[in-house]
Amino acid sequence: MRAPDSWVVVGLDCGGTSNNATLLDTSGRFLVDRLVESPSLVQEGPDVAVKALVRALDHILELTGTARSSVRAVGLDTPGPASADGVISSRGATNFSQPAWRGFDFRGALESQVGLPVVYSNDANAAALYAHHVHFGAEAARHSSISAIVGTGLGGGVIQAGQIVVGAAGMAGELGHVHIPMQGLLAEGQRLPECNCGFVGDAESVASLAGIARNLLPYWLTRFPGHPLASVPSPTDAAKLVRAYGERGDPMARRIFQQQAMALGRLFTIAANFTDPGAYFVGGGVVEAAASFRQWFLAEVRAHTALREEQARVATFALVPDRDMAGARGAAIAALEACRTA
Ligand SMILES: [Zn+2]
Repeated sequence: MRAPDSWVVVGLDCGGTSNNATLLDTSGRFLVDRLVESPSLVQEGPDVAVKALVRALDHILELTGTARSSVRAVGLDTPGPASADGVISSRGATNFSQPAWRGFDFRGALESQVGLPVVYSNDANAAALYAHHVHFGAEAARHSSISAIVGTGLGGGVIQAGQIVVGAAGMAGELGHVHIPMQGLLAEGQRLPECNCGFVGDAESVASLAGIARNLLPYWLTRFPGHPLASVPSPTDAAKLVRAYGERGDPMARRIFQQQAMALGRLFTIAANFTDPGAYFVGGGVVEAAASFRQWFLAEVRAHTALREEQARVATFALVPDRDMAGARGAAIAALEACRTA
């Protein structure tokens, strides 16, 4: 039983299809140890989605027998692009395609609906904050880290002294769109990879599902004629299958993931010279892969990160834990930190 004067924060992760909710107490303990999901309904527009989040909040309180009055704040995280204060980009976003989302103040709308302070984080930043806190525990405020989250795109987060580096416009940690050297990464005859953002040769153009579909797979299929993935009609569907082949040791899939690991290593090399973080985290789909594959991939990333001797002695490489819960948990930690510094 909690002491009657204790308070909690709620973490709400709003994704393209699901909301995920969690509850965190002031000692830093999560009061739910599993995924608590409900439909996010974001395709039905902002009004419906905000109501769905309020229901997710009420549900997690009910599930844990927590009174609404003991909630001090709510942490909300969503995919971007959005401002640091949770206003969805005026140009829209992949997950928020309905026109009503453009320029919508998601954080403010939820705040007025629930009557509690809402602290906003983008989803990759939230996952980065969670990874940082799990890894460093009570020492979190004394350390720095960087996280690269490989999904459809390549998200990221930079944590300095236990806090998310947000940036002036809320766009810090957009690691996917950092240019990386392509020399020695691309194979013979492989075209310069293009990113959906318009850049050529940034980290996401290689280390993302979109990068596999658009750049890596089309090239590697020419090097492995007759590979079963050549007969999958949609490049995106084929890209999603590459990981399963990789887990089974398929040589073409391994080459693809090796290029991704090399891209992440080169990105981390830039980070090493930029902010010299104490930990380097890799998150996303790879976290759910077979253990031997995960370890191989992380070792490849590490092998391609050029650290100075002094850095190598103190740096650690790890995976972002609890892929599905990392966003909600990180959003809750951000809310707790905001309460403490308020
Ligand atoms: Zn890009």
